[in-house]
Amino acid sequence: MYIDTKTVVIINIFSAGLFGIALLAVSQGYLKQIRGIFSWAGASLLHSLAWILYSLRGVVPDVISILLALAIMLLSLAYYYKIIADFTGKIKRTNWVYYLIAASVLGLAYFLWIVPNTAARIVIISASSTILMYAGAYVLLSGRERRPTSHIFTGLVFLAAGSILMFRTGYHLFFDTDPNQTVFVQSTMQSVTFLTSYLTAAIVTFGFLLMGYDRYITQHEEAEGRIIQSEKWLNEAQKLAKVGSWEFDLDTNELTWSKEQYHIFEMEETPADKLFEMCRTKIHPDDIAAMDKAIRIGKEKGEGVVYQHRVICKDGSIKHLLGIGETVKGADGNKNILRGTVQDITEQKNAEETNRKFAILESKSKEMEQFAYIASHDLREPLLTIKNYVELLTEESAGKLEADSEEYLTRISRAANWMDELIKGLLDYSRLSKIKELQKADCNEIVREVLPDIHSLIETNRAKISIMHLPTLAIYPLEFKQLFQNLLVNAIKFRKKETIPEIRISAEKLKGAWTFKVSDNGIGIEETDKEKIFGLFQRVHNRNEYTGSGIGLAYCKKNVELHHGNIWVESVPGKGSTFYFTILTV
Ligand code: ADP
Repeated sequence: MYIDTKTVVIINIFSAGLFGIALLAVSQGYLKQIRGIFSWAGASLLHSLAWILYSLRGVVPDVISILLALAIMLLSLAYYYKIIADFTGKIKRTNWVYYLIAASVLGLAYFLWIVPNTAARIVIISASSTILMYAGAYVLLSGRERRPTSHIFTGLVFLAAGSILMFRTGYHLFFDTDPNQTVFVQSTMQSVTFLTSYLTAAIVTFGFLLMGYDRYITQHEEAEGRIIQSEKWLNEAQKLAKVGSWEFDLDTNELTWSKEQYHIFEMEETPADKLFEMCRTKIHPDDIAAMDKAIRIGKEKGEGVVYQHRVICKDGSIKHLLGIGETVKGADGNKNILRGTVQDITEQKNAEETNRKFAILESKSKEMEQFAYIASHDLREPLLTIKNYVELLTEESAGKLEADSEEYLTRISRAANWMDELIKGLLDYSRLSKIKELQKADCNEIVREVLPDIHSLIETNRAKISIMHLPTLAIYPLEFKQLFQNLLVNAIKFRKKETIPEIRISAEKLKGAWTFKVSDNGIGIEETDKEKIFGLFQRVHNRNEYTGSGIGLAYCKKNVELHHGNIWVESVPGKGSTFYFTILTV
């Protein structure tokens, strides 16, 4: 069977048709691959054209037909390789493939020009095609990474095609020159090589379809994965920010919500046509009008909307929501879609309700301090006058008054002194917040400075005071000293009768904060009085038995709070008390 020029032309047209069908099949289902397949079909047509030109030898001068065929053949091969490189993602390799092809074109053109023998030309063409086929197989099969089956399949086809071409080269080199070879053998060999070439082309096309399909599926899966991932991120972001998103069709009242929006409203997923009515049952009745107004503005003016409303939760609590939306064009091109977000602002609102209260409290307490300062300061002046005149009167009337009158004067003087002490305490207390700068100070030294000031009290009561190692901290030294003085005086003052007071001062770092301890073996405090004693003028023991103004511990509390700490007491009545306080200034 000898294939003549006409048959070659028919086979080529058939082959072009085959690529056309492949193109159609891909364009139906795998749109994304259209560009690649177009390129492939274009390369195939060029390939066929080369063979047609080659078959026209005799009709046009040999040199022209062969050179044109060769040029177009190599062009088509270059094109194939670009597509392969694009498909496999090995774009960089195309560079050396191009150089290789360019060099081959020049080299081949030169050889074909100087080699007049047709068989020798066929050998050159087949040999170069073999190299290119093997190069294609290398691109598809080399590398360590796992590659899709379609790549392996196409690579193997390239390998097979390369081997066939190599066989053909060998045949022309070694057997074609045999003068005894029959016409039958020659024509059969030619036919077999032609047919295998086309079969190879068809299988390669199939391979490329598979590669395209593979790539489409992978891209599809990757895109799907990315969508799922970004939806997950969006949901998480909305959850963290407590923000839901919604879309409302102003014509049909259809409403769609994000997952977080359902969560904020504490509702189950509801069909879009029922959601609007359903969610209204959750909105605070007083806020429905505001929401309707926002919708009306969106509908009539096509403007953005901002609104606030409350939602009644399942447990009866109230959530505050802030909605922001904009009117956008729907599918019909009209501005009939309201789209936006809702944010749960309950915490901000609560912090706002609390901040206001705090501000009021702060201003009230400042007012009180101011009042206490002015009152105590101004009260002291007339009191000092009374004290002075009582002293003068006592001196001048010494021995001249009746016993009763003398007793009255003594009582007036005692009361005046007592009042003076109270006022001084109050003044100290109100001055406490007018604070200076924090200083790094050694608490051991400060506590030791207290001792000489209360020396006579310690001596009289034969009190034993042990001081453990204390830290160096940033504190207000004068105030800190006063704090210790008050606690020490109390610890000695509220001693048990017939018991020598034993006091221990220590400090340790607990959960990052320095906690100080002042323990005594005194009369102790009842459980019910443990809070009360830190209030201003609060005393729980008899004044006749234990002197005092009831300001000392209130002063200590304010003082500790100034150091950002806390003060509390633990006590066993009859056994003793331990006062604790923390210092958090840094
Ligand atoms: P004052 O000591 O002037 O009475 P404070 O404000 O210092 O006022 O103390 C308030 C009250 O707390 C005291 O009157 C006393 O009843 C009780 N108290 C304070 N310290 C101790 C202590 N170490 N042991 C027992 N009771 C105490």
